[in-house]
Amino acid sequence: DIVLNGKTAVVTGGSRGIGRAIVERLCRDGARVVFGYGSNEAAADEVLRTVADAGGSALAVRADLSDPAQAERLMALADEELGGLDILVNNAAAQFSPTPVAEIELADFDRIFAVNARSVFLTVRHAARTMRDGGRIVNISSAATARAGRGTAAYVASKGALEQLTGVAAQELGARGITVNTVSPGATDTELLLGTVTADILKALPAMTPLGRLGEPADVADVVAFLVGPDGRWMTGQNLRATGGLA
Ligand code: NDP
Repeated sequence: DIVLNGKTAVVTGGSRGIGRAIVERLCRDGARVVFGYGSNEAAADEVLRTVADAGGSALAVRADLSDPAQAERLMALADEELGGLDILVNNAAAQFSPTPVAEIELADFDRIFAVNARSVFLTVRHAARTMRDGGRIVNISSAATARAGRGTAAYVASKGALEQLTGVAAQELGARGITVNTVSPGATDTELLLGTVTADILKALPAMTPLGRLGEPADVADVVAFLVGPDGRWMTGQNLRATGGLA
């Protein structure tokens, strides 16, 4: 479809997993996309090739979002490339190992918050200053915020911060026709999931999910595409749980 023809978008963490599926879907829908990645240039190049083969338009920017200056630089380069912003998807998140609160190192807590929450504040602030009227912001949280899972304190706390920021931004930007929503994936088949859960849990997850399988990145990307497209116009300040029913 070409419902996003003429629209511009920034997607963070667009080189792998769910972010990659979001980039590919938005490009297919006709948007011009700038996406960020942390360090895996080969993965970013692969996404660029896939988009180009499908006739889409994307640019990759390396920016470590744990560094506020690089988060700002990503948005500045996107402005230069795109000439104005209609869609912002904050999808990047730092990989983490499940750790009990008693053992979380301050440096790890800070790194997780810097990538998952502070960088989202910076890109949303940028969008609040510059986004065109009628724009769309989607922040990717996690179904894990609905359930206090052991070992996830720093991660779910950072995602809780992101969800609160989403709600306030929706209130403040609504007058300009800008919608701001959260999408919370359930267990989705990506490297982040594989690095976070044990093999036993991975095997058990499909049976715990009413729809009977792990999510695919595209299952989540399609929900994001709904929110950022014309059909999402009446949705703001919401948290859409794209989980296959996983509680
Ligand atoms: P992946 O680990 O597969 O991909 C993460 C992406 O973020 C990569 O493009 C990576 O780039 C980028 N990234 C990581 N760290 C940084 C950084 N410091 N600076 C800039 N970019 C960075 O993650 P998923 O696709 O699984 O997750 C996407 C989103 O979905 C996240 O917000 C996650 O919390 C959420 N989510 C995922 C679930 C799942 O089951 N997979 C469940 C619930 C929520 P690079 O490779 O270059 O580092």
